[in-house]
This record gives sequence, C-alpha cells and structure tokens, in this order.
Amino acid sequence: MVEAAYRHHGLDARYINCDVAAEALGDAVRGALAMGWAGFNCSIPHKVAVLAHLDGLAPSAELIGAVNCVVVQDGELIGENTDGQGFLASLRTLIDPSGLQLVLFGAGGAARAIAVESALAGVASVTVVNRDHDRGAELVQLLRRHTPASAELVVWDRPYRLPESASVVVNATSIGLAPNVDARLQIELDSLAPQMVVADVIPNPPHTALLRDAQAKGCVTLDGLGMLVNQALLGIEHWTGIAAEPTVMRTALEDALNGRQ
Ligand code: NDP
Repeated sequence: MVEAAYRHHGLDARYINCDVAAEALGDAVRGALAMGWAGFNCSIPHKVAVLAHLDGLAPSAELIGAVNCVVVQDGELIGENTDGQGFLASLRTLIDPSGLQLVLFGAGGAARAIAVESALAGVASVTVVNRDHDRGAELVQLLRRHTPASAELVVWDRPYRLPESASVVVNATSIGLAPNVDARLQIELDSLAPQMVVADVIPNPPHTALLRDAQAKGCVTLDGLGMLVNQALLGIEHWTGIAAEPTVMRTALEDALNGRQ
C-alpha cells in the first residue's frame, strides 16, 4: 500500500518490513537513524516499548502512551500515533464528530488511540464498553483527566444495549479478525438504529459481521480499511511531505488482502 503510493507519486523511496525481536528494538531504532531513514512504522508488540528509544512524542501519542509511527526530524526521533488520527480522517468522510456521543467497544491500543483522538477532536462523550474492568477504567480516567470529553465505563458482561443517543459506534476489539470471521459483538441487535454510524477497526476481513448487521438495520458503516489507509497516508505525509492519493493505496491494500499481489 505504501510502496504503491511511492510509485504513484514517483518517489524514490522504499517501505520495507523488518521483524525485530524485543531485545533488539533499541539497536533497530538506532540503526534506522544511522541509515538515514525518514522514519518507520512500528507494530505489535513494539508500540509501547519503542517509547524508551525516542527523543520526543507528539502530544496525542504521549496521552495514548503508544507510538505506531516514528518520524526523524532534525536528527531526532519523534513518536506519533496515527491510528486514532487515521480513524478520525475516515470518520470525517461521513460525519463531523464534534458534539457527538461515541460508544467504543474495547480498551486496548486501538481503542485508546480512537478514544483520545476523538475526545481531542470534540466528541462530547465516550462510553467505553470493555470486558476487563481495569483496562476500561484506566481509559476512562485518561479521558476524564486529559480531554474535555465526558467518559463512562460499561463492563461488558452481558449483551450491551446501545443508547438511542449514540451517534457513532466503534468496534475497537479484535472480535471479527480472521480467522474468526463470523464472531459477533455481544450487543442487542435491535438497538442498532439507522441514525448511527457504525465503524469497525478490523481490516481483515473488512466486511465484518458487525458491519453486515448494522447495514441490515440501515446504519451507515465504515470499515477498518479506511482507518488503515488513512494512518498510512499520515505516515507518508510525515516522512515525505506528500499528501498521497488514497484510492491507489486502498486498491493496493485490497489486492494484497485478496492475494492478488
Ligand atoms: P489489544 O490486544 O490491545 O486490545 C484488544 C481489545 O479487544 C481489548 O479491549 C479486549 O478486551 C478486546 N477483546 C478481545 N477479544 C474479546 C472478546 N472475545 N470479547 C470482548 N472483548 C474482547 O489489541 P489492539 O487494540 O491493538 O487491536 C485491536 C484490533 O484493532 C485488532 O484486530 C487490530 O487488527 C485492529 N487494528 C486496526 C487498525 C486499522 O488501522 N484498521 C489499527 C490498529 C489495530 P479486554 O480488555 O477485556 O481483554
């Protein structure tokens, strides 16, 4: 997806995948700097551990406590979190989130990024629905202390009934990720209403059971590919200054997921 954008824009750049062992993370980060890289993405399991090897953090990355994108600026390594920003860019193609009520399933890395960026973008309230009490409570405290949004926790120990006032509903859990493609969120299906935008972070497969159920109820839906493309767009902009063409990237991503590349 990223190299498709580089080719499309005629950039003399590469985006390569490297497996890095946990104990080699510091060496790998210093190596990227030594080799003159413009930056890099880092993924699970390094999103938190990488903080110890950076010179600075963007404000939202500091709040989220995780970094998925590192940018070399004037010889310094700056950590960004583009996951939540990518989600917001995707959401904004459908709706302005300011003043709205967000219901967010999950409290892991993706949920933290989405919650913090949405709250900083002016969402009025975030309801965190999470199975594990402590993880959910920690996210709610973070939102209350550091963002203007109100926040509440619902411990997810029974099918959840979405409030009619919810405008944006997001699955930020790993439920539905391949190979568990038919896994469903424990929600009361009749509480899905047509005025809700229902989004899923799952990129593979993008058409999750949640999105199928939501579409059947008349909701507008957003798949996880939009978030994935948008976080990559933000990374490319940080590293090269280019606002890349998203349709080229989405096509390349779909081809890769469908085994056509
Ligand atoms: P984490 O492991 O940090 O968090 C997983 C979350 O899912 C936790 O809140 C966990 O709840 C919840 N969860 C998992 N299984 C269940 C279940 N059976 N029932 C209820 N809750 C469950 O993962 P991440 O946040 O990093 O990633 C989550 C998903 O987001 C992944 O599938 C990943 O592919 C996707 N993702 C997509 C991106 C995109 O650009 N589209 C970007 C980043 C991630 P609990 O706390 O109770 O354990």
